[in-house]
Amino acid sequence: MAAQPKTADEVPGPDGVSGDEITRLAERHLVQPWPVSGSIGAEARGRIDAGEGIYVTDAAGRRLIDGPAGMWCVNAGHRNRELAEVMAAQAMELSYNSPWYTTNVPSALLSARLAGHAPEGVDHVFYTTGGSSAVETALRFMQFSNNVKGRPEKKLIVSRQGGYHGSTYLAASLNGRPRDHDWMDSAGDLVVKLTCPDPFRRPEGTTVEAFCDFLVEEFRQMIEARGAERIGAFIAEPVMASGGVIVPPDDYLKRMRKLCRDNDILFIADEVVTAFGRLGHVFASQDVFGIDPDMITFAKGVTSGYFPLGGVMIAGRLFEELRRSNHSDAMFAHGLTYSSHPVGCAVALKNLDILEGGLLEHARAVSDHFQKSLKALEDLPLVGEVRGLGLMACVECVADRVSNNPLALDIEVGKRIDRHCQELGLLVRPLIHMCVMSPPLTITAAQIDDMAAILRKGIELTMDDLV
Ligand code: PLP
Repeated sequence: MAAQPKTADEVPGPDGVSGDEITRLAERHLVQPWPVSGSIGAEARGRIDAGEGIYVTDAAGRRLIDGPAGMWCVNAGHRNRELAEVMAAQAMELSYNSPWYTTNVPSALLSARLAGHAPEGVDHVFYTTGGSSAVETALRFMQFSNNVKGRPEKKLIVSRQGGYHGSTYLAASLNGRPRDHDWMDSAGDLVVKLTCPDPFRRPEGTTVEAFCDFLVEEFRQMIEARGAERIGAFIAEPVMASGGVIVPPDDYLKRMRKLCRDNDILFIADEVVTAFGRLGHVFASQDVFGIDPDMITFAKGVTSGYFPLGGVMIAGRLFEELRRSNHSDAMFAHGLTYSSHPVGCAVALKNLDILEGGLLEHARAVSDHFQKSLKALEDLPLVGEVRGLGLMACVECVADRVSNNPLALDIEVGKRIDRHCQELGLLVRPLIHMCVMSPPLTITAAQIDDMAAILRKGIELTMDDLV
């Protein structure tokens, strides 16, 4: 008889502390992100002890495919020796320097490398500690520039329903999923939200082209109603990630970009997920969608998640405008202790070497198989749509395939699929009635087949639960 899997409590953790002690310490002291009020500080989640390539090992010693690559970030895969070694070497050479008074070698080199990948002229970088602080920086820079340029009323920020931009106050205010706002305050006065560009949820009887026309017209009318002189920026994920891998209609981004340019509204592409190979290129804005944003925010895959680093690419012309303004001595009073961190930048440089040295090409080569393998799940009655691009995809479940109505929230179908898949050896990212997949870019065709087979079984078992 096969041995029963052990529980986390029976397995010793690292450093000789017993597994049940680790679980107890986590429950007693650790507050996990996105906790629910009734269990804050009392919920120890499944423990992961190790990782290698596309796999992680849980506390019970089971190997699981890391379907979401952590949180869309472990692009080069787990346990990459080159990344680990460069991190240690940089920490021994220079572990920290004040970014206010001084600069360092890795951040200068990385900035030039990133400028080489960004659209022409988007050639300056401000480094942060992650995606939220990158978005926050882009928005504060917009506010600062408009103050300096003598147009302090040009501050409204346009985002979209379904979007996700982070968890700091201003960035979180842009988020467009209801649960991000249900119990939280926000800087709502500064933000206007447009319709989510989700072709699957377009109004019945409307073509995708007509839906796209509607989305662009909605923005045009909003600019007219509010006044271009009051709108500072439009922010968009090229492919909405946490909102359910929403790939917008063709030309949507180009047309929104044009409206921004025509009305002197900054276009901020939030590429925290889509950059660094997730869509097969270092940045997706131009190489995948043919647009040239004024600013591009990034994080996550820049270090493959090995070090908390993010940043904003900023068009050089925006600095030129400030230099020519009447207030060329005004200070952009914004900085982080860990801006331009030498260790993070050194890891990012090595990560770029890995991406340019074949991983981008590999990601492009396997993405078709990835998309097709998951698309095949549409034959399951619970699945309404499988969509995606590059190495990001979403399986959306529906109550029935005629209406495509979403399932009742309390069914928690995403969590059910996740639970079954974990038993079978796969981590997925559940989103209410959806499951998101964004594996490490190192995944092979055979591993994609394994992943899709487990996901199919997990959905079938969930269908059995719901009978
Ligand atoms: N922007 C996007 C598109 C994201 O998906 C995220 C996080 O998932 C963020 C910003 C926030 O990044 P971080 O969690 O690193 O602050």
